[in-house]
Amino acid sequence: MSTLVTGIGELVTNDPALGPGPLGIVTGAALVVDGGRVVWVGPAAAAPAADDRVDLDGRAVLPGFVDSHTHLVFAGDRSAEFEARMSGVPYDGGGITSTVAATRAADDDLLRSRLRAVVAEMRAQGTTTVEVKSGYGLSVAEEARALRIAREVTGETTFLGAHVVPPEFAGRVEEYVALVTGPMLAACAPFARWVDVFCEPASPHAFDGEASRAVLEAGRAAGLGLRVHGNQLGPGPGVRLAVELGAASVDHCTYLADADVDALAAGATVATLLPGVEFSTRSPYPDARRLLDAGVTVALATDCNPGTCFSSSMPLCVALAVREMRMTPAEAVWAATAGGAAALHREDVGQLRVGARADLSVLDAPSYRHLAYRPGVPLVRSLPPGDRSSASGVIGLTLER
Ligand SMILES: [Zn+2]
Repeated sequence: MSTLVTGIGELVTNDPALGPGPLGIVTGAALVVDGGRVVWVGPAAAAPAADDRVDLDGRAVLPGFVDSHTHLVFAGDRSAEFEARMSGVPYDGGGITSTVAATRAADDDLLRSRLRAVVAEMRAQGTTTVEVKSGYGLSVAEEARALRIAREVTGETTFLGAHVVPPEFAGRVEEYVALVTGPMLAACAPFARWVDVFCEPASPHAFDGEASRAVLEAGRAAGLGLRVHGNQLGPGPGVRLAVELGAASVDHCTYLADADVDALAAGATVATLLPGVEFSTRSPYPDARRLLDAGVTVALATDCNPGTCFSSSMPLCVALAVREMRMTPAEAVWAATAGGAAALHREDVGQLRVGARADLSVLDAPSYRHLAYRPGVPLVRSLPPGDRSSASGVIGLTLER
C-alpha cells in the first residue's frame, strides 16, 4: 500500500540532485512511500496519487537520524560518578569497570528491557538507525550475550571486547588481547557486523596502538568491518591506525595532530564526533571546523552510555555541534543523518531519495534549523495513529524489530 506524504514545508533529502546545498532541500514537497521505501520525491504540486495520504501541514521532514555510536547493553547506574565528575573528579576510563560488574550480574531480561527502553527514547527523538556495541561483558560468554541481545534491535552490532582491560586481567594486557582476538572474537563474530577498540594510550585502562592493531586485524580476518575509539583523552595513534586499516569510522577525534587531519582528509574513514561526551564530562570539544575545512567527512553520534554521556538525543548532539563546535545547522543535520550513514557504510538510510528506506523524522517546526535553534524542545512529532502512516513505515519504524 502506498502513502502520499504531502504538505512538507521543507524536506531535507541529503541528495544535491534534488535541491540546493548538501541537504538537497525541497520546499513545498511531497513524497510517496511504498513497502517501507521512498518511491517518489518532489514538489507537492506534481505528486502522483497514492492509496493513502498524510498531510503534514507545513512541517519540516528530514531523514531519520543515524546514531552510529552507542553502548546500550548494560546494567547499573553511574549518576554518582557523574556528580563527582561535575565536582571536579577527572574521567580516565576507569568507571567502565563498575558497569561491567553490574552488567555481568544482570539477567538477559533486565539487559533486554533496559536496551529497549533506551531505543524507545531514541525513536521518540527521531533516530531510525542505531549502532550498538558490546563492551561491558569482557568475557567470552558475556560479550557474546551482549551482542546476541543487541541483535534483537539492530543489525548494526559492534564487538567491543577491547573496551577496557577487565580487572581480572590487570597487568596482563597481552593475555587479554589474546583472549579478545581468539576465543572471544570467535564467539562474537556471528552476532557482529563490526569490531571496535578503545585505542587510548592516555588511559591506563584502554589499549595502545600495537594492541589496537592486533584487535582490528583479527576482526577484519573474521569478516568484520572496522571502527575505532581514538584520540579522545589525548594524542595517540588511533586516528592514523583507523585510516591506515581502512576503518569505516574513527570516533571522538578530540586531540588531533596535523598529520591526523591530513590522514583523514586523504583517506575514506569518517570522523565521528560525539559532543554529548564533552558536554557530560565538561571536556574540550573536538575542533569540528578544522576537520570540515580540511574536507573530512564528519558524522555526529550520541555515544549513549552510562558513564560519559547518558543521553539518547541526536537533537541534543545537533544543538551542541552548532553551539559549541561551530558547525552550521546544515552541517550538523547532514552529519547526524548522511554522515552517520557513511560511518556505517549504508546507502539506504540517511537520505530521502527514491529507493531509500522511508525513515522520516517529522518536526513540529518549519525548518531543520529549529533542531539547533530550539535546544531541549521535543520537536520530533509522532504521527497520530489515525494517520495510518506508521503502517507504511513512515516514521521511526525501521529500526530492526
Ligand atoms: Zn564509545
